[in-house]
Amino acid sequence: MARPNFNVQVAAVRQLTERVREFLLISVDGSPLPSYSAGSHIALHTHSPARGLIVRHYSLVGGADLQDDARDTYRIAVQREDHAGGSAHIHASFEVGTRLQIGPPTNNFPLDRRDQNVLLIAGGIGITPIFSMARSLARRRCD
Ligand SMILES: Cc1cc2nc3c(=O)[nH]c(=O)nc-3n(C[C@H](O)[C@H](O)[C@H](O)COP(=O)(O)OP(=O)(O)OC[C@H]3O[C@@H](n4cnc5c(N)ncnc54)[C@H](O)[C@@H]3O)c2cc1C
Repeated sequence: MARPNFNVQVAAVRQLTERVREFLLISVDGSPLPSYSAGSHIALHTHSPARGLIVRHYSLVGGADLQDDARDTYRIAVQREDHAGGSAHIHASFEVGTRLQIGPPTNNFPLDRRDQNVLLIAGGIGITPIFSMARSLARRRCD
């Protein structure tokens, strides 16, 4: 059975680099969003006047530094791609209060919690799932 989508809205926007913008998403009715493991991502559904429905996937960053986000909050970081549709639309139109739908978190790449020594390698925007993995490892005092 298909898992339901969630109605969320943009609660905060932060420019991280010239091309990467962070968005805090909170549930519209204030209820907790599903919990997830480090490395998970969501499908983000949004409508562009030019392209109609756009669905793109974004990793859940999980919090700032070692601090986890509240249970009603997801944090994503979106890199604006040149010539692109989805990320450019998100950068151009998402502001505090923008409403959208997201799918439930999925993890295709979970950490093996038995590992004590872990080497994480990421390039560019690929750091987003690694960031929450690093936080998880630091909290469990793994190397
Ligand atoms: C599991 C998963 C997690 C992800 N996590 C993140 C994340 O945390 N942050 C993030 O930013 N992204 C993430 N992505 C990628 C994200 O889902 C999108 O693919 C990304 O934002 C690009 O979408 P877009 O619609 O902007 O680009 P698209 O329109 O799909 O274009 C894709 C690429 O093609 C190029 N292109 C398109 N049209 C042309 C053209 N006419 N000429 C030349 N080049 C062209 C664009 O420059 C772009 O690089 C993730 C993807 C997956 C699958």
